[in-house]
Amino acid sequence: MDALEILTDLENVIPYFQPIFSADERRVIAYEVLGRYRTAGNVISLGPFFLDDQIPEEYKYEVDLLLVQKALELALGLDDDVSIYLNRDADLLMYRHGEPFLQELLNFEKRGFKLSRIVLEISEGKYKGDLDQVDHLLQYYRTYGIKMAITSVDSDTNYFERIGQLNPEIIKINLQALKSTATATNFTDVLFSLSLLARKIGATLLFENIEMSYQLQFAWKNGGRYYQGYYLHSPTAEFVERDLLKDRLKEKFHDFIAYEKKKLEAIYTAAEYFQTKVQDIVMKNKKASYGELLLSLTKEMDQIAFRMYVCDEDGFQRSANIYKGKNGWFTQEEYIQKNWSWRPYFLENIIKMRNEKKGILSDVYSDIETGETIRTFSFPLNGNDFLFIDITYQYLFEHDQLL
Ligand code: CA
Repeated sequence: MDALEILTDLENVIPYFQPIFSADERRVIAYEVLGRYRTAGNVISLGPFFLDDQIPEEYKYEVDLLLVQKALELALGLDDDVSIYLNRDADLLMYRHGEPFLQELLNFEKRGFKLSRIVLEISEGKYKGDLDQVDHLLQYYRTYGIKMAITSVDSDTNYFERIGQLNPEIIKINLQALKSTATATNFTDVLFSLSLLARKIGATLLFENIEMSYQLQFAWKNGGRYYQGYYLHSPTAEFVERDLLKDRLKEKFHDFIAYEKKKLEAIYTAAEYFQTKVQDIVMKNKKASYGELLLSLTKEMDQIAFRMYVCDEDGFQRSANIYKGKNGWFTQEEYIQKNWSWRPYFLENIIKMRNEKKGILSDVYSDIETGETIRTFSFPLNGNDFLFIDITYQYLFEHDQLL
């Protein structure tokens, strides 16, 4: 792309708008502004122009400012609850200390465009300057009601730390990473932490680059309130009808909900099955020692479990592990008196089991020793001691609703 060609032909620099839909209202609640350049019979992205290191900042700034002006001019005609997302990298943000950009926004505020409708999509990419100064500027912008979105999980900088520092209103998650199944599992785990973090700091999750139905489902399932991508709508020169996808999204959600409910029912049924089975074995071994109980369990649970042990209510292990290796079950005495109270949800689950006098089937997680994907069924033996049964991946795989 020839930078000079663009700079001498600013008339053909135009904003494109990609709608962002919300899950709760199922309508357009915002647009992301994307830079485009119109050439003979063709419209090309200005992305490469803005990423080109060879092009001086002031030229980029000039083109960007024009895009912002043209976009906001059009946005004046939108409903006043529709937001506008503007992409800002740190260099562009810090250009002349961010003053001219703010002045431009204030001009539009005078004409009735509330600055609380502006969301800045911050990317720090290769920024070499002082991040503290960027943060100061953003805090200053915030006093005008301007909101912040932070983008992408891939960066090498400390993403979680930056989220903590910037306290963004929106966390934008790029679903492109979901395309390869190799990274999908880790991606899901990172996302899970991200959704917890978002909940703690009161940020909203926006999933972008949704290109297929399963990605929309993924976004819905992982706490995404806002959605954007070609599957919903491509970027265009004009705004779209706000309720364009209202019915379609309702249908999609209906399918997602039905699928998820079926899955939750299956998990509930499995928990009931384990409850009955384990209760029965425990009853039959009422007078037996824990060692004898575990031995009976290995016979009944041989195709289900790979590790079993008993802990007291404080998480101290009261029995050895009984563990299924390649050559069958064996005892691991060294586990006696190990403590597991530090593990997530451990004490919550103990209290729950004791009060409800019922076992609990855990969520799916990676076993720390084997790295396998497992679930644990825990069961109250009496008021003090609790039985833990780790379920094999093989069993979950064979009952795939449990994965
Ligand atoms: Ca963006």
